[in-house]
Amino acid sequence: MDLVLRAERVLLEGEVRPAAVAVSDGRIVDVGAVDSDHLTVAEAVVPSNGVLMPGFVDTHVHINEPGTDWEGFATATAAAAAAGITTLVDMPLDSDPVTTSVAALEVKRAAAQDRCLVDVGFWAGVVPENIGALAALAGVGVAGFKCFLTGSGNPNFGPLSTEQLRQAMSAIADLESVLLVHAESQHVIDAGPRPRGRGYSEFLDSRPDAAEEDAVALILDVAAATGARAHIVHVSSATVLPLLAEAKKSGVFVSAETCPHYLTFAAESVPDGGTQFAACPPIRGSANRDALWQALVDGTLDMVVSDHSPCAPELKGDGDFGRAFGGISSLELGPRAVWTHADTRDFGLAELSGWMSERPAMLAGLTDRGRIAVGLRADLCVFDPDAMAVVDVHAVRHRHPVSPYDGVALRGRVLQTWVAGRPVLGEVCAPL
Ligand SMILES: [Zn+2]
Repeated sequence: MDLVLRAERVLLEGEVRPAAVAVSDGRIVDVGAVDSDHLTVAEAVVPSNGVLMPGFVDTHVHINEPGTDWEGFATATAAAAAAGITTLVDMPLDSDPVTTSVAALEVKRAAAQDRCLVDVGFWAGVVPENIGALAALAGVGVAGFKCFLTGSGNPNFGPLSTEQLRQAMSAIADLESVLLVHAESQHVIDAGPRPRGRGYSEFLDSRPDAAEEDAVALILDVAAATGARAHIVHVSSATVLPLLAEAKKSGVFVSAETCPHYLTFAAESVPDGGTQFAACPPIRGSANRDALWQALVDGTLDMVVSDHSPCAPELKGDGDFGRAFGGISSLELGPRAVWTHADTRDFGLAELSGWMSERPAMLAGLTDRGRIAVGLRADLCVFDPDAMAVVDVHAVRHRHPVSPYDGVALRGRVLQTWVAGRPVLGEVCAPL
């Protein structure tokens, strides 16, 4: 063995119990009694305040490299490691080039080379220009595909029309891949008011529930007609939940995610000029937030991923929602933000891990991770579920000190993270 981790609390098969986890060549090779004998190079006893858990998997991260200074592989993966996140999957836009061709994917992989503290995978983009060329991207190992039905904000990453969505989903069904869709409809947004000024309510009115509802209805129709696997990213509006529940019941191949910010914040408490809260789709009211939680608990929503979408601070519009880049920075804070609600929303570490490790890993086709089990990768973290701390945005490791979580008290702390059996936290934690 290379490493044996002994802990009184290990999350195994949905239960927390004592165990020893033995690692060899980056894989879990044995899970046994906490005092079981092993011949090993290294051994660590997890402190009593920590729980040994599967590393978190975040399948919705905008790393934005190369071509911008908004984030980057080094800072994003450092933030991930500090959060106990052992795998990131990068979104295909907001970098230059956007990941819509094999050549662009190679540029991105070269930028990531030797700069990542955790494992990184890639989604490829579907844009009107590349619908006929998706097989080539699938052939070079992307996790799946992502498209928009509304302007992405990036002229190099245009939205699909209804007909193009049908073509893309047919191709993706043939490839047995998955299409992630940003579900807001452009024609609904165009019919409403433009965001302007410092008031959050005008911003909220500019991205109405109906835009999400209209888009989700279309995606479900096309998924049903083509047999393609569809995934709705960042569900913000509770109005789509009955549609999703009904589609799942009738066997449509669909899954859906929401994000920590939709589960944490509410429109009523977003301050005027608080453009660090600007996201598309937007953070909605508190009753809507309650409905998202309920949908997570009842399985209508499958997972929680960050949609970490940073930008240079000057692009936040100086408090003007009409000029602010829509995106929230939260990569390092996601698991803690969700866990903070465990007491009041009545769930445990098994649910947290299902939403933030196991199901995102399944979405990205990463069948070798997301749980602690013999044969899987030794992607692990030690999480202290009872720690409590106030977020200081200047102390988080993503690149720019902008986040709506600044000053928010969050529960939980990560003491160590292992990627394929290798500890990746140095100065940020007490060595185990
Ligand atoms: Zn996103």
